[in-house]
Amino acid sequence: MPYLFYNIAQKIKAYQNVHPSAHLYRMGIGDVSLPLCDAVIRALHEAVDDQANAESFHGYMPECGAPFLREAIANYYGEKGVALSPEEIFVSSGASDELGDILDLFDRESTALVIEPAYPAYVDANVIAGRKIVHLPSGRENGFLPEPDAAIKADILYICSPNNPTGAVFNREKLQAWVDYANQNGAIILFDAAYEAFIEEPALPHSIFEIKGARTCAVEICSLSKTAGFTGTRLGYTVIPKELVRNDLNLNAMWVRNRTTKTNGVSYIIQKGGAAVFTKEGQKQIHENIRVYKKNAKVLMNALDKLDIWYCGGRNAPYIWMKCPSKMGSWKFFDYLLNEIQVVGTPGAGFGACGEGYFRFSTFGNPDDTEEAAYRLTKLLQK
Ligand code: PLP
Repeated sequence: MPYLFYNIAQKIKAYQNVHPSAHLYRMGIGDVSLPLCDAVIRALHEAVDDQANAESFHGYMPECGAPFLREAIANYYGEKGVALSPEEIFVSSGASDELGDILDLFDRESTALVIEPAYPAYVDANVIAGRKIVHLPSGRENGFLPEPDAAIKADILYICSPNNPTGAVFNREKLQAWVDYANQNGAIILFDAAYEAFIEEPALPHSIFEIKGARTCAVEICSLSKTAGFTGTRLGYTVIPKELVRNDLNLNAMWVRNRTTKTNGVSYIIQKGGAAVFTKEGQKQIHENIRVYKKNAKVLMNALDKLDIWYCGGRNAPYIWMKCPSKMGSWKFFDYLLNEIQVVGTPGAGFGACGEGYFRFSTFGNPDDTEEAAYRLTKLLQK
């Protein structure tokens, strides 16, 4: 568990020791609160039954993913106008696993650039590997969407859009600048698209492969955790185009080699459940759940609008990133909300130094709790 969430858990524990009966309004951690949709549950049950009969039983699955799931994902991209072959899609047990494992493709001497505030795993995975890290701060002045800086040299570029924690989304033009920069400098973009399904503005890109030139410089890492409630079920996928070559080495072929060495694939049952997400019925149902989280976002955004507090995110992402009022530091604001109104969020400073003075709300919580948290927040800060 990253230090940030450990620290939060410790503070909550201390509060609960003193106030054992207090109900906490948890808008902190990014875990979902809604169950898997019906289409997925049905597919999981059917897959369990398949394992009960010799004719339908599946033993080891192909290491890089079951063809039925790789094809379903390729079709999902195809509908968005991105042509991928199933061999460019690698099924994984989640984005966290992949964000760590994918670093096998890179030399330990290489440098990683992390746009901050950032999901803590990018920095931590590179610290574990002993790699040099360049921290690129972003801020309100650039909408938390910085441009590449020609003076900075890095081999691995982390881009998360829609972003955790800021909820900011790169538009095509801004993403094109990063793709051009990566191609010119021989760098590789690790594009984290864990929240793509939350984008509602039609002009915003869901995939880096919607951008010209991305096939020669990008890897896309995706997850069904937030899109389809798979946080505890575990499934994700990674896209590595066949044109991606560095030092005469083909990264798609290298990843096939890596996967066939280091994993025996993801369970048949879970992949069947995952394939149901990409059916017409599955898509309809997961978007019904996403709409519930979007409603939570609206409730919190309305409260912040009323209070005239600056924030970004919420519209195309399940996170809201707000400026702490009265120039409060982010941990001080955390303690203030916990002690005064029992609302738990995440201090911005935990996502990098430039997150100080900001605070993140997750919109994955229970709708009643979110309403009450927004009401308490308004009452507290209106004073
Ligand atoms: N990437 C980002 C930006 C995330 O916020 C998260 C989870 O919160 C992950 C990756 C990890 O997702 P998974 O549950 O698939 O490991």
